[in-house]
Amino acid sequence: MSRLTNRTVLVTAAAQGIGRAIAKAFVEAGATVWATDINEAGLADLEGANLRRLDVLDDNAANALVAEIGRVDILCNCAGFVHAGTVLDCTSDEFDFAFALNVKSMYRTIRAALPGMLERKDGCIINIASVAGSVKGVPNRFAYGMTKAAVVGLTKSVAADYVTQGIRCNAICPGTVESPSLQNRLKAQGDYEAARTAFIARQPIGRIGEPEEIADLAVYLATATYTTGQTHIIDGGWSM
Ligand code: NAD
Repeated sequence: MSRLTNRTVLVTAAAQGIGRAIAKAFVEAGATVWATDINEAGLADLEGANLRRLDVLDDNAANALVAEIGRVDILCNCAGFVHAGTVLDCTSDEFDFAFALNVKSMYRTIRAALPGMLERKDGCIINIASVAGSVKGVPNRFAYGMTKAAVVGLTKSVAADYVTQGIRCNAICPGTVESPSLQNRLKAQGDYEAARTAFIARQPIGRIGEPEEIADLAVYLATATYTTGQTHIIDGGWSM
């Protein structure tokens, strides 16, 4: 029996990329997994998980889903997107959208899941931030870096408030990781191969990360009962 056999995990943005790998890893680790996304078709072949549509921009949806699940032991906030550009490229609407999807989404899901965790004096929250933001300034990632730095602040704040009540809250800061969104970003640069080579060149370890490597860290954090309020960097040496 795994240490996660009796644990219930809620994962946002699980249809693809890092969220999907995390949902699969928790299924393999024996947890009861609720895999959610706005892309229901993308969730459909995720075996062994309970699948639900969850739009993290919806104020009420997370509360309704947590009520349906009944008990969330581990919350993995994976939803997020990359806005490309500088402060001068970022419109007011784009600023608000980036904050809503990358940060306020986590505020919503945490507010939905935390009361039950506090009743049980047991809960683990894992937020996917990024090396871009509080760890590294990255060119053309103004809104992204700003929001991912906010995720680190949110994580530390929640960790500090509830550390004596059985709640742990950690952030994972990945570097560059294979995902559909990364593929789109590479294609958007025009010369896909040149863009890919440039991305790999900035990784001291010599390759782009795999979503499964981030998922392994998430599963570790779910059982790493002496760590909270930390940013766990996993970036192939990009920020060392
Ligand atoms: P991705 O960007 O390819 O997929 C994102 C998923 O989010 C999609 O399945 C999409 O349907 C879902 N989504 C979008 N809006 C949503 C909403 N309103 N409600 C619910 N789901 C929604 O996946 P990725 O690149 O693996 O990124 C996952 C997380 O990891 C993001 O927070 C991202 O910022 C972070 N991250 C990614 C990388 C990378 O290189 N891929 C690096 C560092 C951090």
